[in-house]
Amino acid sequence: MREFSISTNVFFGENALDRLKQIENKRVLIVCDDFMRSSGMVTKITEKLKDCEVTVFSEVMPDPTIEIIAAGILALKASNAKVIIALGGGSSIDAAKAIREFSMQAADKKSDIEECFAIPTTSGTGSEVTQFSVITNAQDGLKYAISNRSLLPMVAILDPELVISAPRAITADTGMDVLTHAIEAYVSKDASDFSDALAEKAITLVFKFLPEAYADGENRLAREKMHNASCMAGMAFNSAGLGITHSLAHAIGGKLHISHGKSNAMILPLVVQYNADIQKDDYRAGYEVTAKKYQRLAKILDLHALTVNIGVNSLVDAIVKLQGELKIPATLKELGVEASEVLKIKEEIIDAAMSDICTEKNPRTASRQDLSSLLEKLIGIK
Ligand code: NAD
Repeated sequence: MREFSISTNVFFGENALDRLKQIENKRVLIVCDDFMRSSGMVTKITEKLKDCEVTVFSEVMPDPTIEIIAAGILALKASNAKVIIALGGGSSIDAAKAIREFSMQAADKKSDIEECFAIPTTSGTGSEVTQFSVITNAQDGLKYAISNRSLLPMVAILDPELVISAPRAITADTGMDVLTHAIEAYVSKDASDFSDALAEKAITLVFKFLPEAYADGENRLAREKMHNASCMAGMAFNSAGLGITHSLAHAIGGKLHISHGKSNAMILPLVVQYNADIQKDDYRAGYEVTAKKYQRLAKILDLHALTVNIGVNSLVDAIVKLQGELKIPATLKELGVEASEVLKIKEEIIDAAMSDICTEKNPRTASRQDLSSLLEKLIGIK
């Protein structure tokens, strides 16, 4: 028996923020980063709340650390808030989820938080509908995901107006994160008809609307579609899981501090090739299902896909082309990272990727040697 569930209530589209008007007379903690406060984004939230006592914890940084979570737990305690609103990219949403989760565990009881809202300002992580929170242990250079159903936000608000301000580079990186979530969920060991439907839709939306949102950040239709795609991809991977693109991105992110979406974007085409194993002559023996699923995606995207090999190659080419249009480098070398710097910590990166929770769901079982070879290609030395 298997299960598919979506427990978060999703409000989306123009004026979705109006859902906040239903919060009345509460003590509220807003968890965000400093940009959200200084740019006036927090005010867009507070002006919707009625007679609420609001505390703003704006100390979140990209890839939130254990120390930031600890400071947030203290802020939550001091505020005595009954409502948490996470506002920002995946980092703010993940931080809010972890703050609530660990406060609950510390108090050794069910949370007395009545409502937990997630309001994404990037179209990227889908964290507003996932049971994951990615935390960084800065001291050890480790970035890892924790997973628990209790991490799921109760309400997600997808208001495209909040993404308009995202600059091109953030639009590009986070948009490629959406694509990576959807493609990895699509071929994951735990993929199902339900997650496939969400992933397929998210992938078609990304190929159509990410270039448009990148070219013109004020294009509201493109922003709205990318916001929806991000959430759908989140629902897909929340059910199906991810793969080794994410395992490597987490491992590299913990050490080299490259944006999560950018790392994913660079690794994804390498992993599609690896998973499809297109050098193999005899598809009956191996990864037929995965390669065929990539071919199916190519067909959905109207790419050449007469045979499995052609389909896989077309998909890889389309990802690489999109990456180029978005000015995302293909290798760490192109990004300006010294090969020697990465090679010094290669074994640590592979250790972290091997033990990442995403590795288990990858359709092809990856050995250390496989990950090492992918890493060398990513560095740009192979
Ligand atoms: P982010 O939250 O780290 O934000 C990156 C930068 O974008 C920040 O400086 C932020 O201030 C800025 N920003 C955000 N919204 C903006 C806007 N509208 N206008 C201008 N600037 C804006 O970026 P992210 O990619 O959304 O999140 C990445 C984090 O999420 C990583 O730690 C990643 O591992 C994690 N993640 C979590 C999940 C999950 O399911 N929990 C899934 C994927 C990734």
